[in-house]
Amino acid sequence: MVYSSRVLALLLALCIAIITTLFLSLFESVGTSALVVAFFIGFSVSYLLIFVVLEFLIFREINKIYKLISKLKKKELQHIDKQQSAALNPLKTINEEIFSFADLKQKEIDELKKLEAFRKEFIADISHELKTPIFAAQGFVHTLLDGAVNDKTVRTKFLKKAAKSLDGLDMLVQDLLTLSHIETGQIKMHFENIDLYKLTEEVFEQFENKADKKDVHLRIESQNRQVMVWADWQRISQVMTNLISNAIKHSFDGSEVVVEFTQGKKNVTTHVRDFGEGIAPEHIHRIFERFYRVDKSRSREKGGTGLGLAIVKHILESHNTKTTVDSTQGKGSVFSFKLPRMKQSGTEAEAE
Ligand code: ADP
Repeated sequence: MVYSSRVLALLLALCIAIITTLFLSLFESVGTSALVVAFFIGFSVSYLLIFVVLEFLIFREINKIYKLISKLKKKELQHIDKQQSAALNPLKTINEEIFSFADLKQKEIDELKKLEAFRKEFIADISHELKTPIFAAQGFVHTLLDGAVNDKTVRTKFLKKAAKSLDGLDMLVQDLLTLSHIETGQIKMHFENIDLYKLTEEVFEQFENKADKKDVHLRIESQNRQVMVWADWQRISQVMTNLISNAIKHSFDGSEVVVEFTQGKKNVTTHVRDFGEGIAPEHIHRIFERFYRVDKSRSREKGGTGLGLAIVKHILESHNTKTTVDSTQGKGSVFSFKLPRMKQSGTEAEAE
């Protein structure tokens, strides 16, 4: 930079000295030796002045860069006004380069910090969730070993409780695996034309006993007995299983769970409606988070892993859609999602 400011000062000083000498040569009274002296004096003075001014400007801009760097070190990046940091070219470019590079790095650091916090929280959650059924089963087994095994009624009761805890553990591990496989892309969606009506009937069959126990009636509401959409059968079956299971769990005894299909031009919307306790507004935006439960102890009691809706969210995201929830406390909830209507043959291969 010093080198280029010297060259620039030299060229400018040379121009000024030539112009001054040419101007003085117009006067007859000025002799050749006076012109030579005037040339050298003009050249030296202008060179010095221009060089000092340029150096001053460069130092000022370098100082600005140092200030910027020290602000970056103190993480005051957000307070730096980009417009104010306008400087000489090419120093202005360097200034802006530093700014945008630091900005980018800061964003990356923030993102990594967020991920790290999320990872820590997730590990803490998983440990806690795993601990609960393991401790329960361990407690029952130890009580049996400590003598309860000799009492036949206590033995059966405790073994059943231990088995229930281990079943819960198995469900949790299955859900965790599903979630991790979807997130890491290990599960590839297999899109095809599927009948949502038939799929729902199959899911209803799985839950007949559970619904009967609460005297909850399962019903489909649709204009047609065939509702064709473009989706992955197995994954949407999992979505419906989780939504219908939740709907039955949270229904009032003797009420009903209704799956309704509304067919639009391009999409079919599925609504899973229950008439039960509903969800308070402050919880609605959080229920799709892993392990988030409105009522932790009651959810575990009802056999929930706290991952059902997180899985629903991920599967529907893989179908480029999402769930909307409409709920009124004390009245019930409706979970809805859209899927594209059946593809006509010929477009299937293209979409896949
Ligand atoms: P869980 O395994 O606990 O059911 P989910 O992820 O499926 O976990 O649901 C998260 C929470 O959302 C549940 O604990 C429950 O509090 C609430 N929830 C889900 N579906 C319903 C529903 N249909 N009615 C009321 N609350 C619901």
